[in-house]
Amino acid sequence: MLKDTFGRIHNYLRISLTDNCNLRCFYCMPEEDYAFTPQQQLMQADEIGQLAQLFVEQGVTKIRLTGGEPLVRKDAPAIIEKLAQLPVELHMTTNGIRIDDMLPQIVAAGFKSINISLDTLRPERFLQITRRNYYARVRANIDLLLQHAIPTKINMVVMKGVNDDEILDFVALTKDNPLEVRFIEFMPFSGNRWTSNQVLTYADILASVRTQYAVQPQSPGPNDTAKAFSIVGHQGRIAMISTMSAPFCAGCNRIRLTADGKLKNCLFSAHETDLLTSLRAGGDVLPLIHENIRSKAQALGGQLNENFENIDTDFLKNRSMITIGG
Ligand code: SAM
Ligand code: SF4
Repeated sequence: MLKDTFGRIHNYLRISLTDNCNLRCFYCMPEEDYAFTPQQQLMQADEIGQLAQLFVEQGVTKIRLTGGEPLVRKDAPAIIEKLAQLPVELHMTTNGIRIDDMLPQIVAAGFKSINISLDTLRPERFLQITRRNYYARVRANIDLLLQHAIPTKINMVVMKGVNDDEILDFVALTKDNPLEVRFIEFMPFSGNRWTSNQVLTYADILASVRTQYAVQPQSPGPNDTAKAFSIVGHQGRIAMISTMSAPFCAGCNRIRLTADGKLKNCLFSAHETDLLTSLRAGGDVLPLIHENIRSKAQALGGQLNENFENIDTDFLKNRSMITIGG
């Protein structure tokens, strides 16, 4: 069992398959030119399988594939097939561009849910945010997932002055589609030009939704990061991820494996444990995992404070989001 010094049991592993991506979302990538990690420094498919198996033996019951963009890896179908054989709930977060290329393997894997990132419903704005022209393909692939009855969520990072005028349009998407739209508060990472005045809080978002819709809070699960709401007359629902204004660290059950095989016990932790080098050297990885979990801070990686307006990003020691695996 992966228990930290605060009694939290970690049974949810997020595995980043790569720090490469076919989009360039400005809030995720570092501002300066970024060189993607060379292929040989990334965990190979069999190494991902070995480490995932080890985590499952330690009590992990849920695995999410993420990145970078997990589906830019040529061997993503093989990795998905391997992980689908483990006794875990399998989930994925993707920008959705390559869903159509890999649909048979995605359907066969039996994903419990797939989260697609989509921050705007306007093609020109999509191009501005992501610096690539894939809006139509992402929208078509969301429809493809729904046609195959795969539970689908949409992740929208809400940023003041960028896309906060589209909140109600996103809520409207849930009327005739069984989608969950997740509004995510904008978070600071290395090089992403975050400022606190760009954060639209969970309370702000909810107030904006309530101007037009009657919403009903849903009871949360023990480790839920999202505050979910149903909407009268809608097939789908909405949820808010309030990392900045109301963090949910007390119930945290998540750990992260970066694409280069480092274990991070929190999205905001500076500390990382190199599992891949030890695995490649034939070492015993298990004590390293337990030591990493025991060092987990009580909240926000021990780096951010709960009043996000006072965060000084110059003092944050972390990777950029694209290299962590969101
Ligand atoms: N490429 C995939 C995608 O975009 O879904 C997976 C990786 S991406 C890093 C995972 C999630 O992190 C996405 O939903 C993305 O919108 C979110 N994200 C990235 N940077 C963020 C930030 N600064 N604040 C909040 N969410 C962020
Ligand atoms: Fe790529 Fe996802 Fe980051 Fe956008 S949010 S740059 S799609 S990893």
